[in-house]
Amino acid sequence: MIDTHAHLSKRFCDVFEIPKIDGVILAASNTEESEENVKLAKENEGRLWAAVGIHPQQTDPKNKLSIDEQLNLLDNLVENNQKWVKAIGECGLDYSPVLDDERERPKKEQEILFRGQVALSIKHKLPIIVHSRKTLEEIIEILKSYEEKTKGVVHCYTGGKKRIKNVLELGENWYFGIDGNLTYEEGLSEVIKLIPRDRLILETDSPFLTPVPYRGKTNKPEYVKYIYEKLAEIWEMSLEETEKIVDRNARKLFAI
Ligand SMILES: [Zn+2]
Repeated sequence: MIDTHAHLSKRFCDVFEIPKIDGVILAASNTEESEENVKLAKENEGRLWAAVGIHPQQTDPKNKLSIDEQLNLLDNLVENNQKWVKAIGECGLDYSPVLDDERERPKKEQEILFRGQVALSIKHKLPIIVHSRKTLEEIIEILKSYEEKTKGVVHCYTGGKKRIKNVLELGENWYFGIDGNLTYEEGLSEVIKLIPRDRLILETDSPFLTPVPYRGKTNKPEYVKYIYEKLAEIWEMSLEETEKIVDRNARKLFAI
């Protein structure tokens, strides 16, 4: 089992424990977490892999570096750690209210930041982990504006039945990331049935979005198991067969 999106950096995780599953992609929200992810991936080779990226909202208000300087830092981080960095993200557009310790970023700046990271993903041939909150149409427009084919995952897909087609139109290397809310949101089960099986991957978004039966508690990568189980039920397949398909998708997208 592979958790393709977890936050295990210090901001989210007081005590780091090595997750007891086959693999985890570590998502990043800012440059500091990107550096932490690379360090964790190096220390846990073959089990943890790093994504480096900057969230559309400012999750590190004390950071004084310009957007260009931050993008340069990411570029160098990828360049010097190709063995461990497997994705760019999470990045995208998000106009919803920020958390207490975060700062809003103006729309225009979010777009510049997102485009900068799309460019990095193209340069380094890495998939993009897309963060979208009611902004999927705008994100798809941006991705379509590039001549080069992009690849990646729409993390925590919430586009409903309607936008599945739009994501699929981005190309054969785009995937849908499904989280723990699958275990308690009936509507999402219906959406899942319309996503091609070879284009779906699972993620916990730890420490958020904890699945049933631990809903309300802190999430961790091991709980991805409950999302696999729910998916097996929806697909009417054995857990083993489900795991084989989903893990093959994850390994293909992230080249792990
Ligand atoms: Zn996340």
